[in-house]
Amino acid sequence: MSSDGDAKPWETQRRGLLLLVSSPAGAGKTSLSRRLVADHADMTLSISWTTRAARPGEEEGREYFFVDRAAFEAKIADGGFLEWAEVNGNLYGTPGAAVMEALLDGKDVLFDIDWQGAKQIAEKTPDDSVRVFILPPSWEDLSRRLHARAQDSEEVIAQRLLLGKEEIAHWGLYDYVIVNKSFDRAYADLGHIYRAERMKPGRNTWLPTFVEGLLRE
Ligand code: 5GP
Repeated sequence: MSSDGDAKPWETQRRGLLLLVSSPAGAGKTSLSRRLVADHADMTLSISWTTRAARPGEEEGREYFFVDRAAFEAKIADGGFLEWAEVNGNLYGTPGAAVMEALLDGKDVLFDIDWQGAKQIAEKTPDDSVRVFILPPSWEDLSRRLHARAQDSEEVIAQRLLLGKEEIAHWGLYDYVIVNKSFDRAYADLGHIYRAERMKPGRNTWLPTFVEGLLRE
């Protein structure tokens, strides 16, 4: 990374994109998303607020900010969420200030979010949003992956599978669909989508001046 003094225009004058990634639970969305963020210094993950209890291994501020319903509702009343939705009886929301801060900082933001949230954000910021849906290769595979996590009871797994059907039913709202047959292949595809979307002229506000300079030579 260059120091501020010799930063190239394409490192600083860019318009951040919002990468909205949805899937049924167990299709690999979280692993794919976190890997993409880890591999790109100019991308950050939006950390949601939720009223659901933390699962074993989850940490405050890493997977979610875990809050009670009263705190969540107070933030709704303050207009503090870019979007929020109820999923399986729990509230989930994207804090708007953190997203704005990241965009102003020249970062792209990835959202691991359900179809309701992706729809709301894409409606608010159609030019900046890119929606990607991850499908499992088969229903058996999805069910096997949820069981393999061994995090949830049989009843909770059945509930998550049912919810997964509802999530999949909204696949048509998305710009891109990846079938996660192998992690490496799906990860490469997600990376290609991200790279291609980054190259759209409207996201590279340095381009007009750069081209003007080329033509002056
Ligand atoms: P989980 O409880 O398994 O972590 O998440 C349940 C669902 O809520 C997932 O589909 C996840 O992507 C979605 N989700 C997580 N954060 C948000 C959020 O801020 N807004 C919305 N609308 N959905 C979210």
